[in-house]
Amino acid sequence: MNKPSRLRRLFTCAGILAFGLAISGCYTVPETGRTGMVLFSESQIANMGKESFTELKTQVRVSNNRPKNEIIQRVGHRIASAVGRDLPEAEWEFVLIEDNTINAFALPGGKVGVHTGLFSIVEKEDDLAFVMAHEIAHITARHANQRISAQTLFAGIGLALAAGTSDMDSGERNLLLGLYGLGGTVGVSLPYSRLQEREADRIGILYAARAGYDPRRAIVFMEKMDNTAGGLHEYFSTHPSGKTRVENIEKYMNDAVAVFEDSSRQRKLDMD
Ligand SMILES: [Zn+2]
Repeated sequence: MNKPSRLRRLFTCAGILAFGLAISGCYTVPETGRTGMVLFSESQIANMGKESFTELKTQVRVSNNRPKNEIIQRVGHRIASAVGRDLPEAEWEFVLIEDNTINAFALPGGKVGVHTGLFSIVEKEDDLAFVMAHEIAHITARHANQRISAQTLFAGIGLALAAGTSDMDSGERNLLLGLYGLGGTVGVSLPYSRLQEREADRIGILYAARAGYDPRRAIVFMEKMDNTAGGLHEYFSTHPSGKTRVENIEKYMNDAVAVFEDSSRQRKLDMD
């Protein structure tokens, strides 16, 4: 009795894993060349982002503040052209949201929201460019797709594990399923989000530089955020500490500065 059920368990788990891998695809992150695994088509994810953004706009107060709107449109469009073909399905939209929290976000499909609160800490347009470029980099790097794909695969294996272990002793089974869940947080979610933040910073400074914004402001801005009283802003509660991010950004700064100098030279020539 015991033998066939163990075998069945093994086959169920292996089957689910094989199914997950069979329907998954690989893609290459633009600018960094990293290979990621995705289960969903990018147009599916982009459509979800566009729908969520339409819905979101009915639930927030969209700001009509003219000077601030002009700034986010200008910065947004300059970064959008720096992104270029990294996001072919983009229908760019930059919306200023009346909200005092220091926050900005981007949704798949090229939808970007900036809270008015962000302006309380932004000194230069370059600072805003870095924050917006970082959020947009999450989108071009397909981070949402990767995250949903990993979670789907993980949940699928979890279901198979639960089904395949139904004949086990309940204490042993709960321990196994608990360990599996914990493994998901420590082994999948946390390293994933750290990797994604590092990647978004690396790509973000490059987009900002290509758009003609000084990437070195990213470090000034980050240090300022770290030293601001209260420290824990909404934006930073979902992001690693400034010190960790600065160390990572510094590794790519020389390249970004070279891109910035090139694009600044080009902009000057275009204006002459
Ligand atoms: Zn981020």
